[in-house]
Amino acid sequence: MKDMLSRRSFFSKAAVTSLAGAGLAGGWGSTLVAQVDAAPKAGAPSDLRITDITCAYIRGGSGLLVKIHTNQDIYGVGEGVDAVAGTYQLVRAFGRQLRNQNPLNVHALFENMRKSRFFAGAQSGMMVAVLSAIETALWDVAGKALGVPVYQLLGGKFRDSCRVYMDTALYQSRLPEPADFAAAAREAVDMGMTAVKFDLDQANDPNKYDRFNWTASPMEIQRMYDQIAACREEVGPNIDICVDMHGRYDAISGEKVAKMLEPLNVMWLEEPCPAENIQAYKKIADSTSTPICVGENQYLAYGFREMLEIGAADIVMPDLQKAGGLGEGQRIANLANLYYVPFAPHMVATYIGAMAAAHCCVSVPNFLILEWQIYFHKNPMFKEIIIHDGEMVVDGFLPVSDKPGLGVDINVEAMRQYAAPGYPYFE
Ligand code: MG
Repeated sequence: MKDMLSRRSFFSKAAVTSLAGAGLAGGWGSTLVAQVDAAPKAGAPSDLRITDITCAYIRGGSGLLVKIHTNQDIYGVGEGVDAVAGTYQLVRAFGRQLRNQNPLNVHALFENMRKSRFFAGAQSGMMVAVLSAIETALWDVAGKALGVPVYQLLGGKFRDSCRVYMDTALYQSRLPEPADFAAAAREAVDMGMTAVKFDLDQANDPNKYDRFNWTASPMEIQRMYDQIAACREEVGPNIDICVDMHGRYDAISGEKVAKMLEPLNVMWLEEPCPAENIQAYKKIADSTSTPICVGENQYLAYGFREMLEIGAADIVMPDLQKAGGLGEGQRIANLANLYYVPFAPHMVATYIGAMAAAHCCVSVPNFLILEWQIYFHKNPMFKEIIIHDGEMVVDGFLPVSDKPGLGVDINVEAMRQYAAPGYPYFE
């Protein structure tokens, strides 16, 4: 703060001197100085330094929130998801590594962190999830320091808001009936959504052959068809329907389901089989007109290169809270765009992560749709733990914030009651 004040004072004096040199009267100069002083300023970005990174965990440890602290009363927030339980020491280690660094060098800091660990960056899983949270928080700091929204730092926007689809989260202890699917689709559409997603994998389906070998039986495939057919009948032809098999079935099952869904014109079939063997995705994609959407279990742009090269993905859906953050999201989107493949990020975060993803989504040409969750409407935690302006979504679109940085913040006091027991809380 002292630095900021002394710089501002220097700037004001410099303005007076310059005006005096131009032969202007004192009164003119003082007006200009007053206007300069009154204009919004971004602090002293070149003197900005990271002082610490702290973190907290929610959702039993599977949700990571980080805060990057600086020497100028500016901080940034970011989020990581999924395999983040147990990452506290990793966050702290990256915090020590970034101490005294200028947070504006986002790409360089990200690459330094990534390559400084084992095997020069050849790691994925929880390490990249932590990197994603920290990288997002770096953008938030940079935007606040420079007085611009994150999308501006990412090169500007192609659109003002992101179309979202509602993940209906219709996983229940009992097997949902087709009527349950139809009712959930109707509820989402009545909330203004123009697209919905359903899970087709059901561990409790009595027609399963085997609990480990998930080859779908004919009755299982018929059950899936009946559920989605009921949705299509309920919402009509103009609502997009996405379906997800969560990578649980084998390749021949995925192929059969994709074929059977063709008459229902779904927006995509997601992860019909596990993510490790992308040749299986290609085989399924080649066999059907149902678009195959994959990528929530791939890491960094490297995880998408071969997938796109061989034509294994009709649509890519990186999860930006675990695939590498916003810069990596842009790289994945731009890589996909070379193959005319749309970009439809997976999103299971809080509104911090959703808004972070939105900044990336508006900044790339091939954005298709972003995931949205019914829990934002039904679980009060997701509203209480964040601070933001306006509605979260409006008529099925998430408006990207124009405030400096991400434009959303963590309500640290409100979040405390939801903190995962036994985990550090912004330490
Ligand atoms: Mg999925």
